[in-house]
Amino acid sequence: MVNAIYDVVIIGGGPAGLAAGLYAARARLRTLLIDKGMIGGQIALTDRVENYSGFPGGISGTDLSMAMHEQATKFGMETLYSAVEAIEVDGRYRVVKTTDEGEFRAKTVIITSGSEHKKLGVPGEKEFAARGVSYCAVCDGAFFKDKVVAVVGGGDAAIDEGLFLTKFASKVIVIHRRDQLRAFKILQERAFANPKMEFIWDTVVESITGNGEVEALSLINVKTEERSNLKVGGVFIYIGLQPNTDFTNGLLTLDSGRHILVNDKMETGVPGILAAGDIRQQSARQVVSAAGDGATAAITAEKYISENKWEE
Ligand code: NAP
Repeated sequence: MVNAIYDVVIIGGGPAGLAAGLYAARARLRTLLIDKGMIGGQIALTDRVENYSGFPGGISGTDLSMAMHEQATKFGMETLYSAVEAIEVDGRYRVVKTTDEGEFRAKTVIITSGSEHKKLGVPGEKEFAARGVSYCAVCDGAFFKDKVVAVVGGGDAAIDEGLFLTKFASKVIVIHRRDQLRAFKILQERAFANPKMEFIWDTVVESITGNGEVEALSLINVKTEERSNLKVGGVFIYIGLQPNTDFTNGLLTLDSGRHILVNDKMETGVPGILAAGDIRQQSARQVVSAAGDGATAAITAEKYISENKWEE
């Protein structure tokens, strides 16, 4: 069991956590970042980030994650790979409990634990997970060379990742529950211009079927209620994100979507506990805004530490 007192413990190593780490470490605060295992969060699973300022040619999600981590580490941020299972308040200190590396006392905690992909919840989704059902085109796309694949969803992730899949698949069929995409216009333009992309509108997946691996999707048109069967070699599900807030165990106020409520300084209702990035209510859910949130949270943490008395 590790027992240490930090000025700042950051939970989650996506862009918000890494920016918070950089600002906290440069403020000469003893800073620990705890991550479940994949530095970069959602961007580590993104082929190309082309809307983070400063990279006119875009940058690979992995390269950006690694560069952000290296930069914060250079200024003294420490990193621990473990899952956080709870946060508690112990007098002036906050206690972060991990599953296998003990607990850490901190003057401040910045929660940047981001989100994970929502599940469709239809028959076959669990059964065929990693056997044709995927939530990560960058990780699994190459397994679908020359196959027909479906992408479920109409947001940025569905269209961005669908376009990425056209590098491998013979055809990418986007199945969307409405007749208009939600994705950024520039992504829509690219998708409509790509000869490998097709669209099935006003339709949802009722079940995923196959024999050992995915072979088909049962679909229903939500307007006409007409049912159909679509033969595919795989299905990528991008129907939105779900915030990772389970470990907050009722300590913090969450909205109906389980995002953490914060003010414009990234303060939660509990003194010394801040939240930043995708995890917070009303986040723009972009790399650049997450990084901005992280910086704001670290600046607030520094002020909180300097304004309070600590028995050391
Ligand atoms: P999102 O923007 O919430 O879009 C989810 C899509 O899935 C929507 O089109 C939604 O339909 C559909 N959907 C939701 N539940 C469904 C269900 N049960 N069955 C069928 N379809 C369902 O999620 P996202 O695309 O994962 O993006 C998450 C955030 O990350 C967004 O803020 C996005 O801007 C950001 N992001 C940005 C980029 C980028 O900048 N390139 C890339 C990826 C993600 P409706 O449209 O009808 O609601």
